[in-house]
Amino acid sequence: MRNISVKIRITAWLTILMAVLAGLLLAFMMAISSIVANQTAMDQLKETVRSNVQLVNYENGSLQFDDGFSFYSGGVSILVYNQNGALMAGQVPVSFTSDETFVNGTVRTVESDDDDYYVLDFWLPSDWENGVWVRGLMEEPENSQISRNLLIVALVALPVFMILVILGSYGIAKRAFRPLDNITATASSINEARDLSRRINLPPGRDEFSQLASTFDQLFERLERSFEAEKQFTADASHELRTPVSIIKGASEYGLKYDETPEERHETLTMIHRQSVKMAELISQLLSMTRLDQGTEGAHLEKTDMGELIKSMCGEQAWDKERLILNIKDGIISEVDPILMSRLIQNLVENAFKYGKPDGHVWVSLDRKNNETVLSVKDDGIGIAPEQQDKVWQRFYQVDPSRSGEGGAGLGLSMVKQIARLHGGYMTLESENGKGSTFTLHLPEK
Ligand code: ADP
Repeated sequence: MRNISVKIRITAWLTILMAVLAGLLLAFMMAISSIVANQTAMDQLKETVRSNVQLVNYENGSLQFDDGFSFYSGGVSILVYNQNGALMAGQVPVSFTSDETFVNGTVRTVESDDDDYYVLDFWLPSDWENGVWVRGLMEEPENSQISRNLLIVALVALPVFMILVILGSYGIAKRAFRPLDNITATASSINEARDLSRRINLPPGRDEFSQLASTFDQLFERLERSFEAEKQFTADASHELRTPVSIIKGASEYGLKYDETPEERHETLTMIHRQSVKMAELISQLLSMTRLDQGTEGAHLEKTDMGELIKSMCGEQAWDKERLILNIKDGIISEVDPILMSRLIQNLVENAFKYGKPDGHVWVSLDRKNNETVLSVKDDGIGIAPEQQDKVWQRFYQVDPSRSGEGGAGLGLSMVKQIARLHGGYMTLESENGKGSTFTLHLPEK
């Protein structure tokens, strides 16, 4: 069944359903027609017997019939019996072989050898003791004839009806599945052409196919973005690594060839060392970014006193304590990963010093506002121009690479953003060129 197309399956199911319904309808019609035929026959019997009884006169042993009396009319035979059950007038139908006893005024069915009969008797008294029985007999209608007619009609009409059902169901299924054909065709053309920029672009709607198509489009969009990002990342990473490697290569070749004095060799080695430190830093940043990306370095959240975390971090680092001002609200406990959170704070504070004025200040503050834990790092340094503010979160983006110093490769803020996201939070930036910047982490309270 799984190998058969859904359209054919729907057509088959609908056809079977319609055939069963048509069969049931036929059976129902046959039952109804037989009930109606029987009822009509009984009414006919009652009517004929009643009207004929009024035309029978039995007085002083003599039996007379008024004008209009008929022994046989409309399939009903009228018979007259004396009180002992002996036939006085009329002709018993040959196929009625029963010697049914007389019952006054009730229609009943009497089984006879060949046919079944409806029987209705009336007692017609002449005095206190004497009288005659007037009996009406009518053959039970042959239902088979009606049924046969119905069956013939059904045999002719049913194939036509079933062909219409098959064509109609297939047409409906085909029409209903047309959007799915579009989706399949576009998805396979995307697959064949390896072109993730294509979209299914079904007109917007609330039906299942439109939703499926828009989910696919969103999926393609995300895939395209992540492939692009991956490509960009690989290109940037190799570019960033190539620079220190070629400096190291050039310096060592030059040193081997031309350095003669210990001073010259020392100078070359210092340069090589500086570049290798830069490379080591870059590689370790790239590694932890990839781990964060892949989720291998997921957040291990634990209830942490945020104020304590900031204070102990600032104590451990060799930051200029004169210029670092803490403004911390005590007792703020948040569910964070202490290692990742320390990395976030360290990145922000180091940037604040790096891009601050030589004698400027860095303010770290912690507060709770609007159901959020709010941690901000502010400086009074060079600031970031409005058009750069969105870009600084991108990997490898640097406003002025010459200012980033050793080890800086434009990865710090993108890591900060990722760590915030891993905690269910987000980052905001307020900055004014030449006046300073404030980077703020917003962590929703859980
Ligand atoms: P980098 O290694 O270059 O510091 P980041 O990702 O940490 O990389 O920062 C990206 C860029 O954003 C930096 O190169 C710098 O131009 C800018 N930037 C970051 N922090 C600040 C700040 N506090 N003040 C001004 N500019 C900043």
